[in-house]
Amino acid sequence: MPSTTTVIVGAGHCGLAISHCLAARSIDHVVLERAEVANSWRTQRWDSLRLLTPNWMTRLPGYGYRGDDPDGYLSAREVAAMLEDYADTSAAPVLTSTTVTSVRAAGGGYLVRTDQGIWRAPTVVLASGAATVPAVPALARLVPAEITSVTPAGYRNPGDLPPGGVLVVGASASGVQLADELHRSGRAVTLAVGEHVRMPRTYRGRDILWWLDASGVLDQRYDEVDDLVRARNVPSMQLVGSPGRTVDLNALSSAGVRLAGRLAGIQDGVAQFSGSLPNVCMLADLKLGRLLNTVDAWAGAAGERFAPTVVRSTPLGLDLRSGEISTIVWATGYRPDLSWLDVPVLDRKGRVVHDGGVTACPGLYLIGMPFLRRRKSSLIDGAADDAAELTTHLAGYLDALAGRRERSAS
Ligand SMILES: Cc1cc2nc3c(=O)[nH]c(=O)nc-3n(C[C@H](O)[C@H](O)[C@H](O)COP(=O)(O)OP(=O)(O)OC[C@H]3O[C@@H](n4cnc5c(N)ncnc54)[C@H](O)[C@@H]3O)c2cc1C
Repeated sequence: MPSTTTVIVGAGHCGLAISHCLAARSIDHVVLERAEVANSWRTQRWDSLRLLTPNWMTRLPGYGYRGDDPDGYLSAREVAAMLEDYADTSAAPVLTSTTVTSVRAAGGGYLVRTDQGIWRAPTVVLASGAATVPAVPALARLVPAEITSVTPAGYRNPGDLPPGGVLVVGASASGVQLADELHRSGRAVTLAVGEHVRMPRTYRGRDILWWLDASGVLDQRYDEVDDLVRARNVPSMQLVGSPGRTVDLNALSSAGVRLAGRLAGIQDGVAQFSGSLPNVCMLADLKLGRLLNTVDAWAGAAGERFAPTVVRSTPLGLDLRSGEISTIVWATGYRPDLSWLDVPVLDRKGRVVHDGGVTACPGLYLIGMPFLRRRKSSLIDGAADDAAELTTHLAGYLDALAGRRERSAS
């Protein structure tokens, strides 16, 4: 049975970042990847997707953007190529086409079972992704059979969908981007809007992410926030990777996208929307104002403010059997898939309980989850700091383990 010091599960940017940090400390390890490096960017992204983070933010341990367009936004294919290059230049020990089927504690370490054999290691890092499977609400089962349901992970382009109108459920990054794309392709689009994070692409002449980065907003730590559970569940920002272009609800509704409230139920084939959209939008406007105040306080000068979100009359019901809607896009988020984890660190909802990526099972770590250690943890740019700190913890654990073994041997 092969053994190593650390098994990393997953060769996305997080697994590769941890690998880079372990290599810098000469900690022997292997990265087990069920498909290829950057699998999620190759298989789970739609054709037109570009990062919503600018190129200069595509930073990883020992890696910075080297192209000639620092303010542009990488396509999914470019992200995959960048990660492939990162894995090569880091000489990351990745074993591709190796699916981890279980991880369990054994003999003071872990047995990692894969479809290619079993590994033994005292430490394991779970880097298998926070967005592995689409999170579709249970009410989706009530959708009439004639309607096509897709998720952002399966959607590729407007031409893939049957002719007809589209209901996009969810107005975070994926939802607003897909509503925008489908509307531009000539479809009639209804967007069901729940809680969302309104964000202008540009603020005071710079990309909003420049301000959030420079002012330290993205560096806010997990042990500094009042309500960490809430912070970890904040939806993604309404941004699209297109220079200077804002895709907030005002932009979409002015272009002709019909707004509706949160999809609250489906009864007898009729989609029912919440009537609270004006309040939800008011809250999003308020939070944007607060965020800009924070940025202004850092900058020492006040910037522009954006017009409140305009909500005209919104439908409370939409008959899904009328023929008006042919497709529903469930842009309702994603969740991790850790069904193969056979270690008692999961809560009732199947989420790993952890303290900044350190689990209660010694030697078992987690990376890549929202607000793992910082607000930016869910972004590519967040992996460097998280990976460095988790590697420090892991190295300390190995030292302590070695010390215990030496003492018991003497
Ligand atoms: C639609 C979308 C757009 C995004 N846009 C941006 C953006 O603009 N900017 C930004 O910074 N971030 C963005 N993100 C967030 C984040 O960067 C990505 O989710 C990123 O892919 C997460 O990296 P990761 O390494 O944690 O996980 P992943 O990239 O998901 O990598 C996990 C790897 O683990 C492998 N794996 C899973 N299970 C197993 C198993 N059992 N055995 C072996 N291997 C396994 C998978 O095949 C995969 O390769 C976006 C996310 C999504 C979903």
